[in-house]
Amino acid sequence: MNPLIEKIRADFPILQQTIHGKPLAYFDNAATTQKPQSVIDTITRFYTEENSNVHRGVHRMSQAATQAYELARQKMADFLNASSSAEIIFTRGTTESINLVAYCYGEAFVNEGDEILISALEHHSDIVPWQQLCIRKKATLKVIPIFDNGELDLDAYKKLLSAKTRIVAVNHISNALGTINPIKEMIQLAHEMNIPVLIDGAQGLSHGPVDVQDLDCDFYTFSAHKMYGPMGIGGLYGKREWLEKMPPYQFGGEMISKVTFEKTTFNELPYKFEAGTPNVADAIGLGAAIDYLGQVGWETIRTQEADLLAYGTQQISAIKNVKIIGTATQKASIISFVMNNIHFFDAGTIIDQFGIAVRTGNHCTQPLMERLGIIGTIRASFAFYNTRNEIDRLVDAIGKVNELFE
Ligand code: PMP
Repeated sequence: MNPLIEKIRADFPILQQTIHGKPLAYFDNAATTQKPQSVIDTITRFYTEENSNVHRGVHRMSQAATQAYELARQKMADFLNASSSAEIIFTRGTTESINLVAYCYGEAFVNEGDEILISALEHHSDIVPWQQLCIRKKATLKVIPIFDNGELDLDAYKKLLSAKTRIVAVNHISNALGTINPIKEMIQLAHEMNIPVLIDGAQGLSHGPVDVQDLDCDFYTFSAHKMYGPMGIGGLYGKREWLEKMPPYQFGGEMISKVTFEKTTFNELPYKFEAGTPNVADAIGLGAAIDYLGQVGWETIRTQEADLLAYGTQQISAIKNVKIIGTATQKASIISFVMNNIHFFDAGTIIDQFGIAVRTGNHCTQPLMERLGIIGTIRASFAFYNTRNEIDRLVDAIGKVNELFE
């Protein structure tokens, strides 16, 4: 094994274990990535030494917790190249961030007869909040179609953009097929018609750098647990001009400036959107994940993941009875496939017996599966800590699935 990858694997305690007596091969990284020891230690240290509520204490621990929490926000802002940390709102993750925008932006800017434009590649999290907004406001949900290879039809996109479109919401990378969407071009096209764009970045931040100013996106959502950080924390980047104009949607402590029984004025950004005690420990854990990604470096991550995608595609597509679903030219390290006459649950259960974790099902993209004429796939999603040897084991396991069903 490449000594660099061997060294990286040692940073992830969970990868050292055996499952069903076999070394774990973890290929479910699009669902959630594993956490390096430094992230685990950071969270433990917070609860061991610093645990305290933020923003409202003069005592030393409260000040230390506040400082650490705000430093995590600054790290996230730097990671995305946001112009200010006030443009980073901490939430529970992508789902909550999209709900926040669908509600708060929708409340202020969407009216009867307006249109919301999403794509056929979206995760349920980037469908249902918009659908609900459309019901509330009597607006219409429009969908950018895809080609059979899993790429968006950009000509159709251009035609769907109209004076009625209030927002475009598309994912950066499809969790189900791995397609990397041409979001910069799509943002430019929308902006030519003064339409803001939300990018669902749940899969976007673990494979390469993202620069929200260069992209010029209006909103970008993220989930820490998919970028080697903890569960239960994530957030929303939003351009200040939009966030200033949007009303808050949760009310209580932290988000206020002055409260009387007659009237309340709201706090400044980003606190206006962070009602209640935030998830301080996990925000700090996210900061540690960003530090970790910085140590590994995008060069290493991209080289290893590109190698795994190329090798995996070659090996898996050569297995009889297997068809890869999603063959876009620009793909992240995600391979979805179906097996002729074998249900994905059966295949996944057998593959698990070899200590190999793959995801099976519709990947929270039921409309996409319907468009592709299938009910689900088997998905292997690779991280930089995966190896060719693990892929060889997956290929053997798929061979065993074939043998058992012959
Ligand atoms: N969008 C995409 C593209 C995703 O992959 C996911 C997670 N599978 C989500 C949204 C939802 O993210 P979360 O569950 O972390 O809120």
